[in-house]
Amino acid sequence: MSYKKKDEYDEQVTAQLVDNYTNTLQLLGEDPQREGLLKTPERVAKAMQFLTQGYQQDARAVLESAKFHEEVSEMIIVKDIELYSMCEHHMLPFYGKAHVAYIPNGYITGLSKIARVVDVYSRRLQVQERLTHQIMEVIRDTLNPLGVAVVIEASHLCMMMRGVQKQNSVTTTSAFCGEFHKNESRSEFIRLIGSHLH
Ligand SMILES: [Zn+2]
Repeated sequence: MSYKKKDEYDEQVTAQLVDNYTNTLQLLGEDPQREGLLKTPERVAKAMQFLTQGYQQDARAVLESAKFHEEVSEMIIVKDIELYSMCEHHMLPFYGKAHVAYIPNGYITGLSKIARVVDVYSRRLQVQERLTHQIMEVIRDTLNPLGVAVVIEASHLCMMMRGVQKQNSVTTTSAFCGEFHKNESRSEFIRLIGSHLH
């Protein structure tokens, strides 16, 4: 994963988060003054701001920035997009892959922009179902294609590390619109991404 360091952290937000995480460490029975933890609250404060930077980003603008007129009508698929997000119920990561397809209707976008859109919505507190739909909707609303399909396969640490401890379970969610409501297009997409989804 390309980790792009975000240089401008909001100083006030960071300072308040540092206080909060110092308290959190104490409440969990740790000693925030011990050597290994001295800079931990600040690191966590910055990591969390990085992991939620999607709130400050506009997925629609990402797609608009590389929207080209093109008369193609074949299905365009970007598969195996790495995805890292955090569940909004436990603030623990879920991670996996997103597969996105659309059938253009006069406009296409840069392939890398599709991956960027996945990042914009992943870097927020999420539920996998909503994430899947948000990706589908912004492509539908921005490119006005004949159809959009999104499948996400992800493992949730909140399930793996606690609770039911289903170590190997993968949650699959999907969202389709337009042409992908037809069996033919949907089956082709699912075959091409090699998913086990039926
Ligand atoms: Zn959870």
